[in-house]
Amino acid sequence: MIKNAHIHFNDLGTPFADDFGDIYFSNDDGLAESHYVFYEQNNIETRLQTHDQPHFVIAETGFGTGLNFLNTWQHFSDHIARQQSQNQLDKGVKRLHFISFEKYPLKVNDLSKALQAWPTLQKLSEKLVNNYPINLQGCHRLEFDNGRVVLDLHFGDALASINTMSYPQTGIVDAWYLDGFAPSKNPEMWQQSLFNSMADISKAKATLATFTAAGFVRRGLIEAGFDTIKTKGFGKKRDMLIGQIPHANTAQSAPPYFNQDDSKLNNVAIIGGGIASSCILYSLAKRGINAELFCKDPQPAMGASHNVQGAVYPHLQAKDSPHSELFAHSFLYAKRVYQQLLNDGFSFDHQWCGVLQHAVKKPLADKHKNLAQKQLWPKQLMQNVTAEQGDEIAGVQTGYPGVYFEQGGWVNPPQLVNAMLGAANKLMPHNSHFNCNIVNIEKTANGWVLTSNNQQFGPFSDVIICAGEHSDTFEQTKSLPIVGVRGQVSHVQASPESRKLKTVLCHKGYFTPAYLDHHCMGATFDKNIKSRHVSDEDNHTNRAQLINFYDHSDFATTLGKVSSAKAAVRCTFIDHLPMAGQWCEQSDYTNAFANLRLGKRYQYLPLNHPQQGLHIFTGFGARALCSAPLCAEHFISCLANEPRPLSERVSQAIHPARFIVRDLIRNKIYMTKPTIWVNCS
Ligand code: SAM
Repeated sequence: MIKNAHIHFNDLGTPFADDFGDIYFSNDDGLAESHYVFYEQNNIETRLQTHDQPHFVIAETGFGTGLNFLNTWQHFSDHIARQQSQNQLDKGVKRLHFISFEKYPLKVNDLSKALQAWPTLQKLSEKLVNNYPINLQGCHRLEFDNGRVVLDLHFGDALASINTMSYPQTGIVDAWYLDGFAPSKNPEMWQQSLFNSMADISKAKATLATFTAAGFVRRGLIEAGFDTIKTKGFGKKRDMLIGQIPHANTAQSAPPYFNQDDSKLNNVAIIGGGIASSCILYSLAKRGINAELFCKDPQPAMGASHNVQGAVYPHLQAKDSPHSELFAHSFLYAKRVYQQLLNDGFSFDHQWCGVLQHAVKKPLADKHKNLAQKQLWPKQLMQNVTAEQGDEIAGVQTGYPGVYFEQGGWVNPPQLVNAMLGAANKLMPHNSHFNCNIVNIEKTANGWVLTSNNQQFGPFSDVIICAGEHSDTFEQTKSLPIVGVRGQVSHVQASPESRKLKTVLCHKGYFTPAYLDHHCMGATFDKNIKSRHVSDEDNHTNRAQLINFYDHSDFATTLGKVSSAKAAVRCTFIDHLPMAGQWCEQSDYTNAFANLRLGKRYQYLPLNHPQQGLHIFTGFGARALCSAPLCAEHFISCLANEPRPLSERVSQAIHPARFIVRDLIRNKIYMTKPTIWVNCS
């Protein structure tokens, strides 16, 4: 669990870290020092104009009060304003990406108080304070100014955090702000292993600046591969260090069979029309990337995203697994994105009324007990509640204890999808083709061409298939191991007793607070059925299931008739995780990685990527409202060669090659080619 910093404010109003015995910024003029030491000595101003990529990446050790970040953001905004006024937005950097590592985050009240020292940064400080994350270990992606400024705030030790990150061999960082308290006050951080890991994620010619000129720091940086020199320090300080790494080293986070390569992204075709597609479109639009949407239905969100009320909460396990990490961070990111849509004037019906998961059966009660014992999750994310506390929260009598997700709630998914498509369109206008059933996709010399029953579209540099249960209908993707699970949700008339319900209830299924005087009650679960047909029998099943658990509760026994229902097929995979990444052709993999059968210490051949530019983004099951926004950001970040918000282990867990790799390792795939017997040294 992440612990907050213990601080007090000294006589001059400067925040002071009690555990380190050091100040967060200079007593004289912290802002001027931050600007001189980190911004100017990394030569950021000039590089924003001359950089060869649309995004510039700064990484910092020790977020503290966020002063370095805010100062950089302020100057980046000035840069954008200048480019705009000179009509030169096509030149120079368009997106600032700031990565910061923080082991002991400030409490939000302390942060707010500390930042009052800087009136010129007030507007930006407020935005930071309003979005400041809860104490959950890992990467929190915060976006500002329509995604033009991205802050990846990693809560945890800097070295440990870098070592969890997903990054390519070319590195991701353009400039380092090597901050942290003075080396003498914080020797644990200033270690050779940190300098080496910094080098691992640096791009060629990445620079660094640090306020210290300590000899062992300089020697450590040189050993890690940075050229360093001493330069004049700020104010009364004689020296500080600056440096540059001439080449990116060969480190990369993934083994070659789990690489996430970049792609052209000149113009992208998206096949699908639900929450997954809208998240992809939104992530592309934030980067100014052209895209077109192709949906076989007459309007968006008619498949698995069609519910009237969909519950939003994280699916957490009582262990620190890739699964839990994915859902915990996805949930917090989704909440920020949805709130941003609302702040930007887009609307969708919703209630952040919390989600209460009842321990209606022994296995659930055992799981909740385990969650309580492990104490892995901050209270703001999940807390155990007694039956009395739960009933107080719910406003109805049930007698069940459970776990409560106070930031959860429900949204109307079709309205949300429309809001997201609207927001994407506002940032980057796109064409949408509804009633357009794409039956064929083909790679030509000019790019990907899509064919519907009566028309051709393209060529496109990239195609992203987000078509849920229909994602395996194309010749190229027919081997996709989709598990289709049909689910029906019934809309039941509210009663005076049921109208008292104040939160979403989860049992084996879910039951929502009244909306338009109806509750959503469901859902059924039919594996391997791909039908949207609504049945009366399933409405009976849904009511019977509710009564089975709540026959002693007035809210459940007094409900009215079922007025309507919706059925759809949730697209899942056998491991209950989504799939996001470039399409992996099985024969290409079995050829390149044949030696996986022999163990992981043998050499491989390069991949040929016969379907270069084809991607898959699906398998969110009933959890897309929670997981799709962050998975879309991660996936598009990989394709755009940007820092990635998901850790390497989560990236591998959702990688499209995972089933092929698993079967190769288990020697379950028949080989047609001879194996290459070359030993790795
Ligand atoms: N850059 C900050 C700013 O703009 O306000 C000031 C940073 S303050 C001098 C140093 C920060 O480094 C503290 O917030 C501290 O908690 C953090 N820190 C110390 N050791 C760390 C470590 N091993 N990993 C990550 N953060 C660390």
